[in-house]
Amino acid sequence: MSKTIAINAGSSSLKWQLYLMPQEEVIAKGIVERIGLNDSIFTVKYGEDQKFEVIQDIENHEIAVQMLLDQLISLSILENYEEITGVGHRVVAGGELFKESTLITDEVLKQIEDLSDLAPLHNPANASGIRAFKKLLPEITSVAVFDTAFHTTMPAVAYRYPVPNEFYEKYAARKYGAHGTSHYYVSQEAAKLLGKDVKETKIITAHIGNGGSITAVHGGESVDTSMGFTPLAGVMMGTRSGDIDPSLIPYLVGKTGLDVAQLNDAFNKQSGLAGISEISSDMREIIEAKENGNKKAELAFDMYVNRVVKYIGQYFAVLNGADAIVFTAGVGENSAPFRAAVLDQLSWFGIDYVKENNVFGFMGELSTSESKVKVFVIPTDEELVIARDVEKLK
Ligand code: ADP
Repeated sequence: MSKTIAINAGSSSLKWQLYLMPQEEVIAKGIVERIGLNDSIFTVKYGEDQKFEVIQDIENHEIAVQMLLDQLISLSILENYEEITGVGHRVVAGGELFKESTLITDEVLKQIEDLSDLAPLHNPANASGIRAFKKLLPEITSVAVFDTAFHTTMPAVAYRYPVPNEFYEKYAARKYGAHGTSHYYVSQEAAKLLGKDVKETKIITAHIGNGGSITAVHGGESVDTSMGFTPLAGVMMGTRSGDIDPSLIPYLVGKTGLDVAQLNDAFNKQSGLAGISEISSDMREIIEAKENGNKKAELAFDMYVNRVVKYIGQYFAVLNGADAIVFTAGVGENSAPFRAAVLDQLSWFGIDYVKENNVFGFMGELSTSESKVKVFVIPTDEELVIARDVEKLK
């Protein structure tokens, strides 16, 4: 019996979940927000609905980790640090180097930092989280779990861009995808619901949260995914544009006076639902505004659904048919109107679902028994995959 902590470090946040393994029981979880800013928020949830929260300035990830470890003891969640025997870190970009979860040595940490070009906002933050734990708990098993690893099975036909070869050969310009841990988890769970060995399945997984991606999973392996070189590509998202014509970039540089970096920022942070609705990046607010007759919110919703439908349609073709579609993540798990709009557009594929079951809070099989393709709503659990991978590598 041991305790393992799963860490998801962002540039100004650190989410964590502490597990008792191998029971896979969550003992405590929490988040540190606004790291490096004033009034950072430090929250721990534990026991039966107990919550601890403090607001104070937390300068960096190392201080956040120190506070977390101290608090686990103060709240009697741990008696001493040695009870934690493993830590798993989510790392966004593993490039072509990391095809699976890996024990973190000094060399691996350097490689993660060297891959920052592929995820400039994420990898440096992930590395700070790793460094903080290494300093405070140097003896424990430390594992990196890569968002891209699940997609390293994609064939060249899917991951290459039809641009001059040297862009790939010299500069590694190719599709890497993201959300791999989530697509992996829900495709495994979907195979269980199908009652089949995952090797015998064809599944389209739709991870639709603030960021969103759709993956074609054949025999348990990713064969294509909607995100690309970075998480900007694919479907329309909360604040990201998803796919656009790249010639918009020189055109808009010429017209707007913005430089390439500023445009890239606009496509990442001021586009998607937020850009079109001019209201919010949050699907709940979009639906509310649409219901109140706001035309921009209606267009934002319809465009969002349209992009998701098109990717699902593509992946029916890529897989030459599919056994199931899975909805997961913030919007996919929670938004019945979003799922209805998507599924109503896919009836030609023989998809039928139980309308009364399509409500907030529903989990499991949404399709009718006659539906040619099963539809599942499956809550994702990336932290559990991380904790399991730490156990495997101990
Ligand atoms: P992230 O990509 O940050 O991990 P999540 O998967 O947590 O995001 O998804 C967050 C998003 O989920 C929110 O921005 C919101 O749009 C959406 N969401 C959460 N609950 C609901 C709901 N009940 N109805 C519609 N959308 C929801």
